[in-house]
Amino acid sequence: MKDWKRDTLCIHAGYTPQNGQPRVMPIVQSTTYTYESSQEMGDLFDLKAEGFFYTRLGNPTLDHVEQKIAALEGGVGAMLTSSGQAASLMAVLNICTAGQHMVCSSAIYGGTFNLFYKTLKEMGVDVTFVPPTSTIEDLRAAMQENTRCVFAETLSNPALVVTDLEAFAKAAHEQGVPLIVDNTFPTPMNCRPIDFGADIVIHSTTKYMDGHAVQVGGVIVDSGKFNWENGKFPSLTEPDESYHGVVYTKQFGAAAYIAKARCHLMRDLGAQAAPMNAFLLNLGLETLALRMERHCANAQKVAEYLQADPNISWVNYPGLPQSPYYELAKKYLPQGSCGVVAFGIKGGRDAARKFMDSLEMASVVTHVADLRTCVLHPASTTHRQLSEQQLKEAGVPADLIRLSVGIENPADILKDLSQAIEKAVQ
Ligand code: PLP
Repeated sequence: MKDWKRDTLCIHAGYTPQNGQPRVMPIVQSTTYTYESSQEMGDLFDLKAEGFFYTRLGNPTLDHVEQKIAALEGGVGAMLTSSGQAASLMAVLNICTAGQHMVCSSAIYGGTFNLFYKTLKEMGVDVTFVPPTSTIEDLRAAMQENTRCVFAETLSNPALVVTDLEAFAKAAHEQGVPLIVDNTFPTPMNCRPIDFGADIVIHSTTKYMDGHAVQVGGVIVDSGKFNWENGKFPSLTEPDESYHGVVYTKQFGAAAYIAKARCHLMRDLGAQAAPMNAFLLNLGLETLALRMERHCANAQKVAEYLQADPNISWVNYPGLPQSPYYELAKKYLPQGSCGVVAFGIKGGRDAARKFMDSLEMASVVTHVADLRTCVLHPASTTHRQLSEQQLKEAGVPADLIRLSVGIENPADILKDLSQAIEKAVQ
């Protein structure tokens, strides 16, 4: 399996049927699993044996999909969660708790911003937001003695900022803390953050990984590369009294982080994915490679079309040489970035509204990264709670339209955009 290319992994990783077993990964729609003796069950609870005992902590369908995503991202293990939000929260809480601090890029999804800015702060975790274009020196200056992780998005939603992952990883590692990267937009088809120094990768699988908009989900992937034994992470290196005194680094070695996330946080918070959702996600993953190619090719055409249209005031797509992130995209996203294009129409907010109302094929939805072309005005929806200053820091101007280019025929997408732009500027 190790030698397979990523497009092959999309199809075959994680589930290998044995003689007479179903060819298609089955849904194990069961909360629980039977054993012949209570001793066997006790050994599972004590982590002395491997096996499933309760779906909150593990389920065969989830396990197959977790293995597939870990293989795609180049990690040692993964854990599915009920949403991308749950993945972000648990990825941080696993190593950063009350009284500690994290450094976070300000160009992140609005929901993640709220989670960190409000809820995590209320839980006692202090967060310093830094510009996504921060240099190593800027990042060093943001670190504190109690900093326990750094967080960024590979390609931010919706500002499409490409993060300099190597710089963020270097600054984090100098501080002895891991870099957590949300890789939702590029997916592992276009970027594997672990190859550039990220330690933990998370996704909202609701987006391209699923691609059909049929389930809400998330995943956390552990690179297995971070040294947790540097004295800063006693919850991984000292006995967990709530789990029979297990020392995660001793018991699970390179997979200590993801094992703790499951044994401790998933046990306590219970934000597990449903088996049916994992099954649906897997169907999406099987075609991820093909879909991402088409999303990127279509988005490039759309971005070039908009760039040439005099009614458009600005376009941001990392595949355009005019993009400030073009060079970083060449380094981190050489095969393409994603299907999302951000732009502004001359006439500001009003024109943006008219444009969206005039679209015939593309739908106006909160969702993004769907195989159907869809569109959203973040300043009045996903980012509406942000102040003008916060919008500016997140790279989300009030006239920004987020167009999520689907995999329809590009001529039909352009036709729809062109007629809607014409109506918007009348
Ligand atoms: N991360 C990114 C980049 C997102 O775009 C989103 C949602 O849009 C999330 C995380 C949160 O994911 P979910 O909606 O699955 O909870």
